[in-house]
Amino acid sequence: MKPVDRGLPSSRSTEEAGDAHFSPRAAERNISEKDWAVFQRLTSVKLNAEERLMAETPQRLDGEETEFLAVHWHPEWIPLGLIEKRLQKSFPAAVNSLAIPTQHNKVMVFGQWAGVEADVYDRAYGQKVQLLIHFRADRLAGAGTFINMVERTYNYRAHQLLDILRSLSEPEEAAPRILSSLSDQKMSPKKSITSEAVQMARFYAIRLRALIEMSGIQGSDRDEMLKNRLLTDFMQRRVKARQAALLEQALCFIKAVKKSVKAELSPEAFYSPQELIEEARSLGAGVVIPHPPLFWPILLSGLDVDGWEVWNPSTPDQAVFLTEALARANERPRKRKLLAFMGDDTHMSAKIRQTLGDKKAAGPEIGFQEAWRNPAVAGALQKARQSRANTINEYRNRLLNG
Ligand SMILES: [Zn+2]
Repeated sequence: MKPVDRGLPSSRSTEEAGDAHFSPRAAERNISEKDWAVFQRLTSVKLNAEERLMAETPQRLDGEETEFLAVHWHPEWIPLGLIEKRLQKSFPAAVNSLAIPTQHNKVMVFGQWAGVEADVYDRAYGQKVQLLIHFRADRLAGAGTFINMVERTYNYRAHQLLDILRSLSEPEEAAPRILSSLSDQKMSPKKSITSEAVQMARFYAIRLRALIEMSGIQGSDRDEMLKNRLLTDFMQRRVKARQAALLEQALCFIKAVKKSVKAELSPEAFYSPQELIEEARSLGAGVVIPHPPLFWPILLSGLDVDGWEVWNPSTPDQAVFLTEALARANERPRKRKLLAFMGDDTHMSAKIRQTLGDKKAAGPEIGFQEAWRNPAVAGALQKARQSRANTINEYRNRLLNG
């Protein structure tokens, strides 16, 4: 579907009046050219020359490194051709590597490999968990069922921003949700949220909803730009500097509402880990548990996986513990010995367009996981008879022969 052009908003803006009172009617009606321009910019998937250069230029390079592992990263809307150049520049001396993208709930092909980071719901554990799944791209022809399973979750997740905007803009309908968010806030030591801040959040939620509607973006190739953080990004660019304190409160409130919308996720929209793994294995896929500290009990569920991430930027402190636990798990008989993985979990869009005030954005870089060289971690890996080279070679073999 092509974006529908319903005409640009009028250049004569009365936003000053609307912003001052945060009236819901003004939010919908007095959309200015500036609002439209900021929205278009935030949701554009076209890269300009400078952005293309940023996409293909790594922030770090290692001219000596002969091997790299990159099986947990998110290209988002950045073309893979540019990322391929980025990897070549990061590791010019590499002779042994494995690089497979793992977009959230979307299978992507990179050279001879395909991969995805899939959300699944473990009913016994009662929580959503994630799995990294990698396979040979030439298996894609027979992967229809697997792709449908993963896409069902993608479509469900894609509606979350709209749910959040609805909750914020129709407080009557979403009253219980919003009230519970507010009481959450009261329990936290943070400063309380004024009703003016709630009005501000509502105003921008309504405005963003109107912009999404006008743009015809849903179902287009820009659909994936409808991320939960779009509201925050939009507000940070549109709220006036003198309202910074109010903005901070409004963002706090939005965060609480987001949390309550996420908590209401329906398990029916997700497959179980066992169901997805079974389908993945029929394609000869490999399966890795990413950042297990985010959902520890998964390690007790006896899933048929190839390995665990013992290190990830979101869970950097348990690498030694996880490596030792992985070694113990390997003492028991199992179909495939567990391999130690590390995921940099790089999200590429943050390299191109940083969220204002997001200090973490520039952090990870595809293929760089410094923990391999940390003396304590390296010692634990050696004891466990694990190494990056072994993981690359053994996992590649499993994928090739799977
Ligand atoms: Zn990830």
